Amino acid sequence: MTDITSKDKQYIANTYSRLPVEIACGKGSLVYDTEGRRYIDLGSGIAVNTFGVCDEEWIKAVNAQINAVQHTSNIFYSAPCVELAEVLCTRTGMKKVFFANSGAEANECAIKIARKYGEEKQGKDCYTIITLKNSFHGRTLATLAATGQDAFHEHFFPFPSGFVYADANDIESVNKLCSENKVCAVMFEPVQGEGGVTPLDGEFVKHLYEFCKKKDILLIADEVQTGNGRCGELYGYMNYGITPDVVTTAKGLGGGLPIGACIMGEKCKGILSYGDHGSTFGGNPAAAAGALSIINRIDDKLLNGVKERSEYIFRELSSAVGIISISGMGLMIGITTKKPVKEVQSECIKRGVLCLTAKDKLRLLPALNIPFELLKEAVSVIKSVCAEK
Ligand SMILES: *Cc1c(COP(=O)(O)O)cnc(C)c1O
Repeated sequence: MTDITSKDKQYIANTYSRLPVEIACGKGSLVYDTEGRRYIDLGSGIAVNTFGVCDEEWIKAVNAQINAVQHTSNIFYSAPCVELAEVLCTRTGMKKVFFANSGAEANECAIKIARKYGEEKQGKDCYTIITLKNSFHGRTLATLAATGQDAFHEHFFPFPSGFVYADANDIESVNKLCSENKVCAVMFEPVQGEGGVTPLDGEFVKHLYEFCKKKDILLIADEVQTGNGRCGELYGYMNYGITPDVVTTAKGLGGGLPIGACIMGEKCKGILSYGDHGSTFGGNPAAAAGALSIINRIDDKLLNGVKERSEYIFRELSSAVGIISISGMGLMIGITTKKPVKEVQSECIKRGVLCLTAKDKLRLLPALNIPFELLKEAVSVIKSVCAEK
């Protein structure tokens, strides 16, 4: 541990503040550090390991693909990525998919689609995209610009222009920005994740949908974190009874390998044409085969299990001592604690429970199939840590 700590500091760019754990291996929702200490994992590598660590079906799918061919490039046809695209379209009712390698890249693709859509429909100056305050859309220059938080706009100037920020849950604010700018799209997270695990109001999302439809503006759901079963439906927007024009996703889609997807609906399925976009690794066969094994298991039974686990966590923690409030949807949960959240997080680690944070909240993103026994054990640790003086 000391060796890795110092080498990490010496050789890795200083962009991360690490927790004092080196995860060596694991199975499902249990992981072990290099000294063999056991932890219940409530973070899933930030909502990535959908079925936990070393999930057997995922390993089988990825292994089979790696043993056949690990990469072909997009110059050739490749079955796993076509099959994955077909499943994504069938399950969402959408029409076409562009595969990228991360959430930020999936959003970059959505931004390009929105700008070209605006240009085709209303001319070259119709490029502004409305995002929401407190949103998070990624770390590339364009997705940083799209992120509605000043803290992300302090360096790296100049940013791509064409992003304006509306107040979440305030359709008037969207309307006003729309009258001041030539707007081609609105992009939103159904539950703002990095911003503090805050679900958008149902009424607002419905109004947003109607508003965009009326004005012929694309509605883009950033489902990088909320997607793939995380919020109790296949995609978070499905909780709101609306259909976006573009859905972006990544994190949990790959189950542990990097993959991102930009899924296009009827309105904009033809916007990107030959040469408009591309990616060397996008839709990589191994990542796509793994993703297929994940998406095919996100069925009603699993989703009901997500809802049950979610209800359990809300029930146990909402009136617990030392807990002020709890927010979120499905297995994307934020907890406001009386104690400083970093203190709670580090005490939980000492007692064998790994949690994340978002802003000043404790954030839970467990595997969607976390066994109830482990969830109960972890929740009771969080409860006692929060209750102690
Ligand atoms: C994590 C996240 C991203 C960025 O994804 P990367 O894979 O880190 O590029 C974008 N949007 C949302 C909502 C996210 O949670």
